[in-house]
Amino acid sequence: MSVTRSGPLPSGDGDGAAYDVVVVGAGVVGSAIARALSRHPLRVALVEAANDVGDGTSKANTAILHTGFDAVPGTLEARLVREGHRLLSAYARETGIPVEPLGALLVAWDEEQRAALPRLAEKAARNGHRTTRLLSAAELRAREPHLGPGALAALDVPGESVICPWTTTLAYATQAVRSGVDLHLGCRVEAVRPGEPHHTLVTRRGVLRARHLVNACGLHADAFDALVGHEDFTVTPRRGQLLVFDTFARDLVRHILLPVPGPLGKGVLITPTVYGNVLLGPTAEDLDDKTATGTTAEGLAGLRERGGRILPALLDEEVTAVYAGLRAATGQEDYRITAHPELRYVTVGGIRSTGLTASLAIAEHVRGLLADCGLDPGPERPLAPLRVPNLGEAFARPYRDARLIARDPDFGAIVCHCERVTRGEIRSALASTIPPGGLDGLRRRTRARGGRCQGQYCGAEVRALFEEYGEGSR
Ligand SMILES: Cc1cc2nc3c(=O)[nH]c(=O)nc-3n(C[C@H](O)[C@H](O)[C@H](O)COP(=O)(O)OP(=O)(O)OC[C@H]3O[C@@H](n4cnc5c(N)ncnc54)[C@H](O)[C@@H]3O)c2cc1C
Repeated sequence: MSVTRSGPLPSGDGDGAAYDVVVVGAGVVGSAIARALSRHPLRVALVEAANDVGDGTSKANTAILHTGFDAVPGTLEARLVREGHRLLSAYARETGIPVEPLGALLVAWDEEQRAALPRLAEKAARNGHRTTRLLSAAELRAREPHLGPGALAALDVPGESVICPWTTTLAYATQAVRSGVDLHLGCRVEAVRPGEPHHTLVTRRGVLRARHLVNACGLHADAFDALVGHEDFTVTPRRGQLLVFDTFARDLVRHILLPVPGPLGKGVLITPTVYGNVLLGPTAEDLDDKTATGTTAEGLAGLRERGGRILPALLDEEVTAVYAGLRAATGQEDYRITAHPELRYVTVGGIRSTGLTASLAIAEHVRGLLADCGLDPGPERPLAPLRVPNLGEAFARPYRDARLIARDPDFGAIVCHCERVTRGEIRSALASTIPPGGLDGLRRRTRARGGRCQGQYCGAEVRALFEEYGEGSR
């Protein structure tokens, strides 16, 4: 077990360390796959181009643990989202990942949308969700008193939840590393030479060898496929821009407010986050630049316009941040998960807008596909136990934990006052199994610098702690 971030990779017997499986891409999907494989006595490496796990699409989504009620029935995605919801809900309970089962309301704003609601209820039933219920305008308003005028009816979808996406990826990767996986960060795979018994992977940091290979490259899954000699699909980045409203907005909304879906996907929603903020978004814009994670004035103005109709009072609240994520669209309303047994290779592509939810089920599916590709995983053994630090407002935070503070007063010393993050949490994150490689990584582990001042007040102290206790100090 090791985490490396720079320097040459281990050289093995001279021509690169040899692994039974190399998983390329440490987003939520690749990390879940590495974790699933670490149940077995296999040599596994998780290899990531960025200098942290969860630094791609997995860090910038709407953080909903979907039930899959609106998936296309009969697709692999429908099955894995449903199964993923069950697995991740249980995993979150076991490890302490914050989840709030708020339920969703799919709100109809015109007659056409109202007419669509019973069809959506039927679709939900075909996807195994029989607890949806139609609400009248009056019932809807009683449940969501701040909705704008003109809401005609809604479909109530119990089980839709909000979750911490950052802790989820980190939990998978941490458990994988503690269970024996080597994590190599800052390690883009630039070329693959298929071979027998090992493929050779040429990376920025040297060479690795892999008997079996998993492509979990997200937006770059098509480019990685091409390195291995396949051109089965093209990924089109579909940008989703979002506005984050301050925690004062939290009382305005009780559920996840979904629109009736249109041709470009789930549409613009308003949802609380587990951190106590409110999100408005995302847009859906097909681009050709896989690095275009910036926001635009036009995109944000469009969101404000739509948000103002749904929840007018929201626009009076402060926006603390804006961000954008890129969905991996492939022109197919399903995932693109394919085994290539002749190459001992599995492509995990097209994990569109549901990958956080489905991650654990995708990992189990890929474990099966690797066996179809000839991998003998050996016996199963328990994973290293894990509890994650809580970042959720609905659960006890360290600054309120008198016993913890009595044991270590640093957990009572607040550094980031907007998000109430303590010196103890920052120190623990910096000493953790996968320490952050920078201040953004530290924010995803603690929330430090993520609040209304965006680090204006605490930034210098957080940086000083990073320099004192971070990897660079050792
Ligand atoms: C706006 C938006 C909203 C969303 N909302 C939700 C939601 O509410 N619920 C939900 O379940 N899902 C949601 N999703 C979808 C979810 O975020 C994604 O499906 C998921 O994060 C995909 O994870 P991934 O691991 O496949 O990709 P990524 O997180 O992008 O990880 C892929 C990794 O591969 C690495 N990589 C690529 N090429 C190489 C290479 N050659 N060598 C080494 N590393 C490489 C990248 O650096 C990256 O870190 C949303 C997505 C967006 C954009």
